[in-house]
Amino acid sequence: MILNSQNLTALFKEQLACWEQAKNNYDALNGVLVKDVEIDGFKLKVQFNPARIISSSAKVDSNSIKERKCFLCRENRPQVQKGLEYINEGDIDNPYTVLINPFPIFPKHLTIPLLGHTDQLILGRFDAMLNLSRELEEYTLFYNGPKCGASAPDHFHFQAGNKGFLTIENQYSNLNKEKLFDNKGAKLFSVKSIFKGLFSIESSCVQSAVEIFEKIYGLLPIKEGEMEPMMNILSWYEGGSFITLIYVRDKHRPHHYFAEGDSNILLSPASVDMGGVFITPLEKDYAKISNKEIREIIDEICIDEQEENNIINKLKAN
Ligand SMILES: [Zn+2]
Repeated sequence: MILNSQNLTALFKEQLACWEQAKNNYDALNGVLVKDVEIDGFKLKVQFNPARIISSSAKVDSNSIKERKCFLCRENRPQVQKGLEYINEGDIDNPYTVLINPFPIFPKHLTIPLLGHTDQLILGRFDAMLNLSRELEEYTLFYNGPKCGASAPDHFHFQAGNKGFLTIENQYSNLNKEKLFDNKGAKLFSVKSIFKGLFSIESSCVQSAVEIFEKIYGLLPIKEGEMEPMMNILSWYEGGSFITLIYVRDKHRPHHYFAEGDSNILLSPASVDMGGVFITPLEKDYAKISNKEIREIIDEICIDEQEENNIINKLKAN
C-alpha cells in the first residue's frame, strides 16, 4: 500500500489492534510524566519514558552494529509490523517504508527507513525529507545523524512525530533570526537561541532549499573517522512553505551520560531533545534533571559561539 493520509490512519488502527507491544507502549504514553523547564525564556519539556531505554542506551559503535541484526531491514522486522510505501520523485529503486514506531515518544510516531540497507547519510536525500514533510503535513520530520542520536546508523531512515509536540515549533517564529542569504526565494537564517549553531531554511520550493542545504553542508567540518558533519534536522510544511532547522553538533553524548554514580544522566540527545523535549528513560534522571543540567548538556553537544561565527562568516562570504 502506498502512503496517503487515509492509509496512514488505517495503518495506525490496524497496528495498534494487532501488535501488543506497540499498543502497550502507545497506551503507556498516556501515563508518562512530563515537566516544564525554561532556559533564557525558551520553553522545554522533560519526558520520563521508560520504553526509550533501548534507544537511549543503544550501542552504536561499529562492532556492536556489525554484531546485531538490523531492525530496520524488512527481513528482520517483526512479522506483525506493516508499512506504507513512499517513492520520492519517481525514484522507484529506492523506496521508503513508513512504519509505526513501536517505542513512541509522540502520540503518533513514525519511522521511515529506506528499503535497502544503506548508511545513515543525509546528502542526496534532503529533498526526500522535504517531500515527505509535505506528504505528512500533520507531522514534523526529523533526521538524526549517525553520531547524533540514530540508533541504526547503518540503515538510512527518517522519523516523524505529530506536530504540536516539540516545543520549538511554536517558539520558532518568535526567535531572533539573522538572514544570511537568499536563494531563488528560499532564505537561510542563523537562529539565535539557547542552541548555538542553529540554522533554518524557509522555502516554498524544494530545489532552492536543497541548494542552500548543500551549501551549508559543504562548509561544515567532518570529524576524523566520520562520514558527515554532525547534525540533527527537523523539517515541517506549513502554509505552503517548508521550514527546516539544522542543529550543528559538536558531540554525540554529553559527559553526564558517562559519569559514574549520582551525577550520571542517561540521556542521549537526538532531534526530539533538540526540538525541546528531553527524554529520560530512567525515573531517577527525570526527578533530578533541571534547567541547570539541560543547559550544560545543550552547551556541550552543540558547537560553541566561536565555531558558530566561523560558519556564519563563511556562509555570508559565499
Ligand atoms: Zn538494515
